[in-house]
This record gives sequence, structure tokens and C-alpha cells, in this order.
Amino acid sequence: MEKSEFRKRAHELVDWMADYLEQKENYRVTPGVAPREIINQLPLNPPEKGESFDQIMQDFKEIIVPGMTHWQHPAFFAYFPANNSEPSILAEMLMSTMGAQCMSWLTSPAATELEERVCDWIRDAKGINSSWKGCIHDTASTATLSALLTAREKATNYEINENGFSKSEVFRVYSSAHVHSSIDKALKIAGIGVANLVRIPVDKNFAMIPDALEQAIKEDLENGFRPLCVISALGTTSSTAVDPIREISEICHSFDIWHHIDAAFAGTALLLPEYQKLIEGHELADSYVFNPHKWMFTNFDCTIMYLKEPRYLVNTFSMTPEYLKTSLDEEVNNYRDWGIPLGRRFRALKLWFVIRSYGLEGIRQKLRNHISLARNTEKLILGHAELEILAPVNFNTICFRFSAEKLGLDEANRFNESWMNSVNATGLAFFSHTKLDGKYVIRWVIGQTDVTEKHIQNAWSLLLEKLEETKKEFS
Ligand SMILES: *Cc1c(COP(=O)(O)O)cnc(C)c1O
Repeated sequence: MEKSEFRKRAHELVDWMADYLEQKENYRVTPGVAPREIINQLPLNPPEKGESFDQIMQDFKEIIVPGMTHWQHPAFFAYFPANNSEPSILAEMLMSTMGAQCMSWLTSPAATELEERVCDWIRDAKGINSSWKGCIHDTASTATLSALLTAREKATNYEINENGFSKSEVFRVYSSAHVHSSIDKALKIAGIGVANLVRIPVDKNFAMIPDALEQAIKEDLENGFRPLCVISALGTTSSTAVDPIREISEICHSFDIWHHIDAAFAGTALLLPEYQKLIEGHELADSYVFNPHKWMFTNFDCTIMYLKEPRYLVNTFSMTPEYLKTSLDEEVNNYRDWGIPLGRRFRALKLWFVIRSYGLEGIRQKLRNHISLARNTEKLILGHAELEILAPVNFNTICFRFSAEKLGLDEANRFNESWMNSVNATGLAFFSHTKLDGKYVIRWVIGQTDVTEKHIQNAWSLLLEKLEETKKEFS
């Protein structure tokens, strides 16, 4: 493509982008396409000759966009959001234009130093101990795997990195029963095995019971296992339950076990001083992860990991072959040594744009708005005689269901599933579900950048309308 055409097309695309952002709520949230409907519209073979940009753009509009789920739609209430914002999108444009690969200080000094500074900014704003150091990863899954590998190497004095698993030692990792699947995956990859994930019972609020943790560790020690790491959740994926960070940190400290705090979604709430009590005691923990790409208006992907003593992480991952050594290695951070991939995107830029554009106060205001919308929604649901909420609303996630007393558990589950599916099928809103104590519950997560009271009201009316229809079907 000629540079002159690039300029013209880029201007056109900016118009498309601005139109999209203005009109995003006119799309169906989920596209309602059938499996293989999109691939069947794509040619079997790639073109041998270049095609015109008009042709490519036309297919983008006609084939791709209608097959997208619109994650930025204000009525996207499913999973956790991956919200974005205008400043973040603009920064992504600049990043992709420069196309820098920021593996070491030398390969982009500004990227490395900006990463250091924005991680410090966010650390301080969240009330994380000022001696901790941060780095950016793609996802929380990667950060948690990195923490687990670091725990393993610290505990064995880097023995497994060097010689592989030679001893018959069996490591144990502890987590609440509501653990995120990324933790199971990390145990698989780290060679520890999912069978050695000990799921600690939770209390009525779905938070880990510290006494049960301590007991499990003691039993494992008696049985010859090697307790390695506890992964606590500050905001579980099911219901945003919060494990008691101080008690868990103290237990880990006394047994010399690594404590990794998974705050992937809810960690953003720590930007609000009123939530910072949730991480009191974290100074005794070892690592912490949260995703600005979920609830902090920063495009996917962007995860920040904080470490009390980064040297353990760096010792685990660093390997500097001759061709990557530079004369400045002693004075600077080479973030390639802080994680799994060598190559790194310039993710700090979008965080910098977001934080400077909103200001911390602007971000806090949006978070408080989401939380207050969630409180109002909780009241709406509680005010309905046939609905119940099954977990505390700690942030902006509400787990609710139609509590059909006459129906047994299985039938009630089918009812709620069918109700949610009928709502989602309209394309007007999108919810997802989880199970709490075996009960199928609908999760309503209110964290979209542009969600307002109006979107809540519309979704509420839709839920009530479909509830009546579902009742008729089940009567
Ligand atoms: C979303 C989530 C993850 C996984 O996040 P990725 O960045 O997609 O890997 C892990 N833990 C919790 C608690 C989450 O909510």
C-alpha cells in the first residue's frame, strides 16, 4: 500500500471507528449466527494477487462485523468485561504504527521506563506496598503461571530449571474451591499436576476458610508432601468473593509458602481507597496480579503483576545468550527476564494514555458509578418476590436466580438456564451464568465503559418479560 493511500484509508477508518463507538449499542450484543456460518463465507484459498482495500473493507463490514460479539456494548453483562476507552484505542493505534518489540531496555528505552513508571503509579494508587515492583504481561493466566514457576524455583533453589524434576518430591498448591481455571492450567504446565491442587473449603460468602487452609497444609506436611504456593482470590470469577488476604498471608509466611493473590477482575476496585482494606496484610504475600484489560478502560490485553522480590522471578526466567547481552544490563530493567515470552508489546503506552486522560479521579468516578448502578440493580432484584441473590455483591457482580421453591434443584436449574438463554437470544443484552452450591445462577456484571441506568432498566424489563414466558413454558 502506498503511503498516500495509507493516509486516506486511515482517515476513513477513524471515521468508521468513531461511528462504531457512537453506535455500538445499535448492534445485537451477540450476533446470533450459526456455527460455520462465517467460515462458509470465506474463500478456501488466499488470493494470489493483492485485492483492493475497498473490497477488503466491504467484506469486513459484511462478513466479519455481523459475526462479532460486541464486547463494548453497554448491555454486555456477561463474564467479566474487557472494557476499553477512547484514549486506550488511540494509544493502540500509535503502538501498532511504531510496531516496537520491547523485549529489553535497548530495544525501546522509553517503553521500558514508561512501564516502570506506570506500574509504580498504579501500585501507589492501589495501596500496594511501595517496595513492590510491577511488570506487564499479556494475561492473568500468564502472570499466575509465572508466579507458580517462580515459587517452584525459589523453593528448590532453581534446581528444576537446571536439572528437571529429579526428586520424588510432590508439591502442593492451595486455592479456594472457587478457583479460576487458569490455576488448574498453571499446575499442568508447571509440572505440578492438577491432582496436587488442594481446594480449600469456603464459607457462606464463598471466601476461603483460613483454618481449613492451615489444617490442609499441616496434613500435607505430615503425609510427606511439599506445600509450595497458595493462590488466593480477591474477587473469584464466579461471584467475586474475596479471600481473607491477611490471614492467608500470615499462614503462608509462617510455613514459608509463596502467596500469590489473583485479583484479575476486582483488583481495579483498589483504586478506590474504601476498598483498600481488602489487601491489608498483603505485605506478607509474594505476588499479586490484576487485569487493567477487564475493568480499567484499557484495551485487551494488559495485565499487571506486582512482586515483593522481583529477583526470584528474574532468576527464574532470565537467560541471556550472548546475542542479547548489552553493556547496560546492570543499570536497567530488561523485561524479557520478567516472564515467559521474549518479545513484548508496548502495553504501558495505553495505560499511560488512559491514566493521564481520565486522571485517577476520573477513573474512580467511573468505578463508583458502576458500583452504585450494581447496588441499585441489587435492590431491584431483592424487591422481586420470586428472585433471589446467592452471593454478596462485593463490587459490581450480582449472582441471582428465579428461586422456584416448588421445582427441585435440577428443574430450577433448567428453568434459570432457559430463562437466561431466552434473554440472550434477543441480542438485546448478554448474560452468563455460574453455579453456586449446585444452583444455576445468572451473573449480571455492570462494568462497561458507557453503561448507564437506562441500559440497566432496559435489561431489567427484558428479564421480567422473558421470566413470564419461561414460567408459561414450565407450567
Ligand atoms: C479473568 C480471570 C482470570 C484470567 O484472566 P486472563 O487475563 O484472561 O488470563 C484469572 N483469574 C480471575 C479471578 C479472573 O477473573
